[in-house]
Amino acid sequence: MTTTLLQPGEIEAAAGSIPELLLPPADVFLSRARRLEQLAEGHTLGDYLRFVAGLARAQQESRDAGPAAELPAPERLAQCLEHQMPPLAPAGLARPDGWHETARDLARTVQPGLPQAGQAALQRILDKPDAWLDEQATRLFEGDMQHLDAASAPVIGAALQVHWVHLARQLDPAQVARPEHPNLCPVCGSHPVSSVVRIGGAESGLRYLHCALCSSEWHVVRAKCSNCDNTRGIAYYHLEGDATVVRAESCPECRTYLKTVHQDKDPLADPVADDLASLTLDLLMDETGYAKSGINWYLIQGRL
Ligand SMILES: [Zn+2]
Ligand SMILES: [Zn+2]
Repeated sequence: MTTTLLQPGEIEAAAGSIPELLLPPADVFLSRARRLEQLAEGHTLGDYLRFVAGLARAQQESRDAGPAAELPAPERLAQCLEHQMPPLAPAGLARPDGWHETARDLARTVQPGLPQAGQAALQRILDKPDAWLDEQATRLFEGDMQHLDAASAPVIGAALQVHWVHLARQLDPAQVARPEHPNLCPVCGSHPVSSVVRIGGAESGLRYLHCALCSSEWHVVRAKCSNCDNTRGIAYYHLEGDATVVRAESCPECRTYLKTVHQDKDPLADPVADDLASLTLDLLMDETGYAKSGINWYLIQGRL
């Protein structure tokens, strides 16, 4: 009789059915804001984290107000399911009604607390025509960071997140297919920010990738590169003295890394807030020769 060692993913699969897709909760922006406020205390990036916390609170208010949002027609949803396509991919949808106004509302709310350069950047959102905002949105969706107005992008991205979270919450997980490429969100096809090991409920101990646009989360086994599916030689990095709440999972095959945020080490850890607050780890990984496979729209930097 031979004994076969199970890989982490196989152990998870053997344990029974697991939720493959977690659609965003109603208070996703509020949780993010609270965590950012907590992380800002005594942090070298404290001012920026507090700015993003204010932006996330404004996003929550905007989402709670119920932005206009219309899901694709049932036939289109069925077609996406059949062909394993993300139903809310920006390329296949019209821009949501009212998104320009959401961007301007968010800009007006967070502008007063900013230094002059930041205020000037957000003034562009208030002054430029809708067509300029649409163009910036397209660049953000297409990952064209070179031609993006990086200073105003966090607020433009935040407005798009409000509408996409609102749309995603109207879906049922059964309407969404497991994607062909697990490195992209099955709901909207965007890149992940980071991944999170969740606690509590059926998803306890499982690793989920968190979408940069719609905040949906999809299951990808631990110790596996989400960028190229490789499982060999995966290594972990964290900052010295850190409680290992945030670790970078690196792949020797494609030379990329994705952070994992551990709620099992800190139950309040958040895949977006903790990613922003661990920028020093990104610098370390960059020096070590790894490219970041995740993207955080609150802080646009070089990516794949
Ligand atoms: Zn998504
Ligand atoms: Zn890889």
